Amino acid sequence: MSHYDTIVSQATPQGYSGIAVLRISGSIALLTAMKISKTKHPLTPMKATLLPIYDHEGSRVDGGVFIYYKAPRSYTGEDVVEISCHGNPLICKTIINTAKHYGLRIAEPGEYTKRAFLNGKLSLSQAESVSLLISSRTKEALKINMQNLGGKNEKRVIRLKKQLMDTLSLLEYELDVSEDEKTTKKTRLVALKQLKNISLTAKEMIYSYDISSVYNNGLKIAIVGKPNVGKSTLMNALSKKDRSIVSPKPGTTRDVVSVEIVLFGLPVTLIDTAGIRNTEDEIEKEGVNKSIKETTGSDLTLSVFTSDTQPVDNVEFKNKIMVYNKADLKKKNSVYKEAVSISALKEDGIENLLKKIQLNLLEAVKYSGDVIVSTQRQSDAISKCLTFVNESTSLLKEDESNFELVAQDLRDAVNCLDLFLGKSTGDDILNNVFSSFCVGK
Ligand code: GDP
Repeated sequence: MSHYDTIVSQATPQGYSGIAVLRISGSIALLTAMKISKTKHPLTPMKATLLPIYDHEGSRVDGGVFIYYKAPRSYTGEDVVEISCHGNPLICKTIINTAKHYGLRIAEPGEYTKRAFLNGKLSLSQAESVSLLISSRTKEALKINMQNLGGKNEKRVIRLKKQLMDTLSLLEYELDVSEDEKTTKKTRLVALKQLKNISLTAKEMIYSYDISSVYNNGLKIAIVGKPNVGKSTLMNALSKKDRSIVSPKPGTTRDVVSVEIVLFGLPVTLIDTAGIRNTEDEIEKEGVNKSIKETTGSDLTLSVFTSDTQPVDNVEFKNKIMVYNKADLKKKNSVYKEAVSISALKEDGIENLLKKIQLNLLEAVKYSGDVIVSTQRQSDAISKCLTFVNESTSLLKEDESNFELVAQDLRDAVNCLDLFLGKSTGDDILNNVFSSFCVGK
């Protein structure tokens, strides 16, 4: 399929709304808009024009605002027309079918942004930031993704590339010109120092992926405990929403229930597991195993117990806080000194528990550097670059180091940064990046 054909899709969510926006991009975008509105005069670029909307049989279906963005001054770099019509799914469907009748096809997920990338309007990391920006669930994630959409991470990577090129030039000069042993030694020391800085920067960049993952993908907190200890009640108290059913009978929470909340600016999924108990019963054991499995992969486990029950423990809990619940019933404190005493029902001690959760989770968030790496693809590119930098450092440390081999490693390291920037990126990688987008972007 050529990427030059003209595409159409709805840019706003499906459903009823005040307005909906449809986007057309490609060489016959303007012509199609003129046919849809039965307008004889081409639209003026960048000007909102109110026009009627007709289906291909000539029946009027709506009126809408048309904006024509003339290539290359558009999001995709091609001719684009955006039509804002009334937000009715039938109207949108009719416009799309009409456009299809005029030879257009429906855009694939992320195709507008892919075209923007192919036409040089956006870099690959900016394109990735578009997708992350759209799916951001917290203000912090928005801030990071907006900064990178503005090119912050790219500038940083370009700077790193320049540092690598400087070191490479130094070695190439040495290879071409110098034969003096003293200068060779000096070059080696200078290059080693530069590579150390480059390696530190690359490591920091890779670390920043952990931070962006936390902001973009969120954290998982699992609530475990025997039946009836108050897990659902605690989940409600933490989420302040009546999302999971609370009942006085044991075993109400049969399946795993989860709720999405924002804690300390981080998107957090709270998982309320079915009661975990140590059991000999085979069938029940299976249920217990399922619950334990749900908790693996969690960033934190809240192990809830009461004065009548023992806390649940498991080696697979990566990180755990013991929570002594129903403290309102028994005045005596928990025998577990490290436990946080709460009453989930009366919402007592919740603030204290939240503080403990914050201390436990915010290791990642204490980071005050820039988030440069925000996708696995970007992280892989920098990691590969670091491998070459480390290799060249080891070679340079050898007494009789072969500058030619070091230079080759540095060239490979530079190529990895080009991969980050989306230069020389293969079709498979591009398809992978854009397939995760929503249709209409
Ligand atoms: P789960 O099975 O662990 O999810 O327990 P639930 O949240 O369904 O709670 C079981 C029962 O204990 C319900 O009747 C709750 O109202 C009650 N409960 C939960 N937390 C507290 C608490 O802090 N104090 C008291 N007195 N009752 C509680």
